[in-house]
Amino acid sequence: MIMLRPTPRQDALERTYWNYVARQELRLQCCTDCNRYRYPPAPACPDCGETDAEWRPLSGKGHVVAWTIFHRSYFPNLPTPYAVVSVQTDEGPLLVGNLIGASPSIGLPVQVLFEETRFDDGTTGSICQWKPLAPFHSSSTEHRNEPQSNL
Ligand SMILES: [Zn+2]
Repeated sequence: MIMLRPTPRQDALERTYWNYVARQELRLQCCTDCNRYRYPPAPACPDCGETDAEWRPLSGKGHVVAWTIFHRSYFPNLPTPYAVVSVQTDEGPLLVGNLIGASPSIGLPVQVLFEETRFDDGTTGSICQWKPLAPFHSSSTEHRNEPQSNL
């Protein structure tokens, strides 16, 4: 069976999100007045009413706050079972996707994974998925400034 994912809905605002995902960038619309993210994207800020916004990059990291395993097939070309997780990003917005490469659990640290896929309308593209956060490696430059142990 060829796995075909449902084609993402793309109105004018959502198209911007998908264009960034196609470039393997996770960006969300953010209010330029109160600095709150708008997700899903909207023509005006639900908090302050400001219409101006910019698409700010996210770290791509977060943790699982809810999860489920789908055993029932809702899409004929998407094999079951698969894990669906709700991820609270480090910046705050909740994003939903599949968890790849691990069993889901509450609090699991995750990072974004851009998955190349085929959609059921015959097109190809990327979708935002999640994978466990890479384990710490002492050679990582991300942790170069951590305090040294005196032991
Ligand atoms: Zn606002």
